Amino acid sequence: MPAPQTAAMRIGHGYDLHRLEPLAPAGRGRPFILGGVRFDHPVGPVGHSDGDAVYHAVVDALLGAVGLPDIGQAFPDTDPKWDGQDSAHFVVAAREAIARAGYAVVNIDVTVICERPKLAERKGEMIANIARLLGIDAATVNLKGKTHEKVDAVGEGRAVEVHVVALLAGA
Ligand code: MG
Repeated sequence: MPAPQTAAMRIGHGYDLHRLEPLAPAGRGRPFILGGVRFDHPVGPVGHSDGDAVYHAVVDALLGAVGLPDIGQAFPDTDPKWDGQDSAHFVVAAREAIARAGYAVVNIDVTVICERPKLAERKGEMIANIARLLGIDAATVNLKGKTHEKVDAVGEGRAVEVHVVALLAGA
């Protein structure tokens, strides 16, 4: 069986969830940013960095595809250096990591699950941001917004959840 690093194609899955709280100082929520897009919303993610769950899941999909440690190991939330960090930095780092491993992105499929805000009108911006940071064509990035049908924490607006699948090819 060939070593995984020599595979022609590799797939990765990324997942992230952030609890949503009222914005500081009323709560611990940071401004609600998803895929680099800031939403005007009364609650936002609790997180060590800027809490961008879309970027975090993209990073984990890419790192996972090439068998590297996940975002929490690469950028630990115990390190004050990452406090409030723009998560675009992590996406660029993941891009560089997969390039070093000899891979390039074929396509990325993102699913965002949250009750509010509605994402439809901002999808294009999020896709453009992901594509720009990864240096790929926006046509290779897809993003879907779903609700959780008002059930469980995500459906009750207490969390945002993101799944990402990324396909890579040997460059
Ligand atoms: Mg996260």
